[in-house]
Amino acid sequence: MYKIAVAGTGYVGLVAGVCFAEVGHQVTCVDIDKKKVEIMKSGISPIYEEGLEELMQKNNAAGRIDYTTDYQSAYKDADAIFIGVGTPEQPDGSANLSFIATVARQIAESVVKDCLVVVKSTVPVGTNDKVEQFIKDFLINDVKVEVASNPEFLAQGSAVHDTLHAERIIIGTESKQAEHLLMKIYEPFHLPIVSVSRRSAEMIKYASNDFLALKISYMNDIANLCELVGADIQDVAKGMSFDERIGSKFLNAGIGFGGSCFPKDTKALEYIARQNGYELKTVKAAIGVNNEQKTMLYKKASKRLITFNGLKVAVLGLTFKPGTDDLREAASLENVPLLLEQGANIFAYDPVGAENFAKVHPEGRGGRGSITYVSNIEHALEGANVCFIFTEWGEVKAVTPEKYKALMRTPLVYDGRNIYRVDKMQEAGVEYHSIGRKSTI
Ligand code: NAD
Repeated sequence: MYKIAVAGTGYVGLVAGVCFAEVGHQVTCVDIDKKKVEIMKSGISPIYEEGLEELMQKNNAAGRIDYTTDYQSAYKDADAIFIGVGTPEQPDGSANLSFIATVARQIAESVVKDCLVVVKSTVPVGTNDKVEQFIKDFLINDVKVEVASNPEFLAQGSAVHDTLHAERIIIGTESKQAEHLLMKIYEPFHLPIVSVSRRSAEMIKYASNDFLALKISYMNDIANLCELVGADIQDVAKGMSFDERIGSKFLNAGIGFGGSCFPKDTKALEYIARQNGYELKTVKAAIGVNNEQKTMLYKKASKRLITFNGLKVAVLGLTFKPGTDDLREAASLENVPLLLEQGANIFAYDPVGAENFAKVHPEGRGGRGSITYVSNIEHALEGANVCFIFTEWGEVKAVTPEKYKALMRTPLVYDGRNIYRVDKMQEAGVEYHSIGRKSTI
């Protein structure tokens, strides 16, 4: 059992902290957000992740995990301090490392015994060398602090499962002691561990995420061509998926990738390449395809309708994917402002994301139109002139084709997630447009 501190209680930090406690370590989670800390202490998760709250309550009760804003007490005698703070994108595409730098300084000013600092946040290659030097520069006490890289691969929506059953754990270290300690910390998880250098570990994270982003953009590119030549992207993907060299995952065409990772990690790697005098053409292309893809359906609908002005527009799904309340880089955030600007009266449904979305687009008038949040899909569809599907929530998938026909004023549906069979929508009398498949008229 080790004494572990975790800096940052977002999707990465909180899930890591809770899972470390679950396997028996003594954990203190640190965040600067007092409100968040208070609610976590009471056993409530500030983020929506399946199974997280149950594990929090179990480990809170067992006394294996605590939450605090007092970083000094958490860091001072920890064996290992994991950093999971954000590294958001800056306007030039580079990663903002100011949160990491703040934590590094707080660690340097707090530790009273030797410890290992483990960076889980996604950071540009070479950052951890700098973090180690930065900590050394600011150390107050005569202790040894090493930095290791341990990039995170969880996917939001299945974060707890992904952590407890990770396909691999990547550790990047520069000394045998650091490698040994990380191996021991992860031993109770009984998962495959890949041990590499610090810089390779940092690169593995970007190379993996950007490869998946490439896969999505490639399928979206092919989907757009399918529409032009009369092929069906779902049949094409199915045919491709049997080839083990390709694999069956991440072949779904749609309205583009969002979330807190793929958009920023593609831009960050492209930026790193540029800084090193190299043009990363593949990743650049993936970014370009994705940017176009996000408003693809809006553009299609704009061509089909004379105007959105005064139309009731149903929007089903606001989060960037199901199973999360995260809106970062969600397609809805691109499309809703365009619709509002064009005078649409939006009725939006999302089972968990509406509250966060309302912080960006408060209920009421917006642009030349308005937005209303509904807790019932039928209210969104009733009398609607057009419907956009942005997230494939189970609740949305459960709406039958007949419902669109029965409830909408004009059964006109633009589906960014290809959740319906084209023939079923056709049979129900719905005008249905999706991605990379034929439309029904
Ligand atoms: P997040 O924005 O959800 O959470 C970051 C947390 O850090 C916030 O609660 C914030 O209050 C806190 N914080 C900021 N400064 C702090 C400080 N000085 N001390 C303590 N807490 C502080 O971030 P996230 O989505 O969990 O991502 C964290 C990192 O992990 C990023 O680099 C991201 O790219 C990477 N990552 C994210 C995912 C994901 O699915 N979200 C997956 C893999 C990797």
